[in-house]
Amino acid sequence: MKILIRKARILDPSQGLDQEGDLLVEEGRIVALDREISIEGPVEVIEARGLWLMPGLIDLHVHLREPGEEWKEDLESGSRAAAAGGFTAVACMPNTRPPNDSPEVTRYILSRAREVNLVRIYPVACISKAQQGETLAPFGELREAGAVAVSDDGHPVRDAGLMRLALEYARSFDLPVISHAEEPGLSAGGQVNEGPISARLGLKGIPAEAEEVAVFRDAALARLTGHPVHLAHVSTAGAVAVLRRAKEEGWPVTAETAPHYFTLTEEAVLGYNTNAKVNPPLRSETDREAIREALAEGVIDAIATDHAPHSPLEKEVEFPAAAFGLIGLETAVPLTLKLVREGLISPLRMAELLSTNPARILKVPGGTLRPSSPADLTLIDPEAVWVVTEEDLHSKSKNSPFLGWEMQGRAVLTMVGGRIVWRR
Ligand SMILES: [Zn+2]
Repeated sequence: MKILIRKARILDPSQGLDQEGDLLVEEGRIVALDREISIEGPVEVIEARGLWLMPGLIDLHVHLREPGEEWKEDLESGSRAAAAGGFTAVACMPNTRPPNDSPEVTRYILSRAREVNLVRIYPVACISKAQQGETLAPFGELREAGAVAVSDDGHPVRDAGLMRLALEYARSFDLPVISHAEEPGLSAGGQVNEGPISARLGLKGIPAEAEEVAVFRDAALARLTGHPVHLAHVSTAGAVAVLRRAKEEGWPVTAETAPHYFTLTEEAVLGYNTNAKVNPPLRSETDREAIREALAEGVIDAIATDHAPHSPLEKEVEFPAAAFGLIGLETAVPLTLKLVREGLISPLRMAELLSTNPARILKVPGGTLRPSSPADLTLIDPEAVWVVTEEDLHSKSKNSPFLGWEMQGRAVLTMVGGRIVWRR
């Protein structure tokens, strides 16, 4: 069956396109895109006047908790949350139980993803065995099993020499390397951003420099080895300054930030709100402003959610005992739209940050509406007003700092390979 999307505002950064038009899907692919398409024969028509049509959103940083912590999330609930949030593809981080450091685990994730069959799931494998930072995981076998990148996310790679080796080894398998940039010597035992708030709450702080020095180290290693490093969840003005310089010098680095870093500050943890406890921590207003500017300028390339589900077991405890992380798949679109409404970024730049650039960084298909591409696409109602409630979220976990917030804009239809996997 053909599907015709009519009169949408089509936003495709890969073609520099921002115009009203129609898009035709047939046999899982985009077959035509024009100001007006008229066809004969049986067709499902989706009237999209007032809606934005983007290449399917791609989240290059999520934690789906399977295998091993299915009480928090699994591939099915995580896929539903992704689809409801407008994402057609997600890259899942390897800090599962067991960690994804072997082809068996990679294959397990991919076979479960096929069973669930909602959004595309791209496994990210470990850099080091068991994420211990001692020996490298078998990159070649992991690549062959279907891993799209390597990262020790959740943990930094402590040893700069091992990181260098990882980059050289990853180069021979064309595997992107994702860096969780954190200097453990500075962050150990920390709970929140180091500053007046940590002092006031009597909690050990994590200085912004813990990120800045680690971002510099990995950017310098990208220069040294010539192999690209992607910096995960950038949260500080200092890291942005390093990235700006690295890009000016032409070092092969890319970076992502998450909606919580451009929306919230460390003040969100006041009252010991464990749903705002995240690593890296929410930072100062100066940091938040630097992140926003970096998104507008192109110093930061992508928005990823770092969706990190935790159950009440891990969150409804004393602040120091609570796990780090918050969920984000279902609130990323409205929080990014806010940047558009504030005039900081254009709708086209939003599509670039959430789709085209993530596809390019991970070297996966998608991020485009060009005819003959797989029909992965997202329709967004930029005006819809809604309130974030636990009942409304598809994730198994409800650890969002945005519960009770009034949002504007959300995904209303998500299509993967020509199949509608979510419709509001
Ligand atoms: Zn991380």
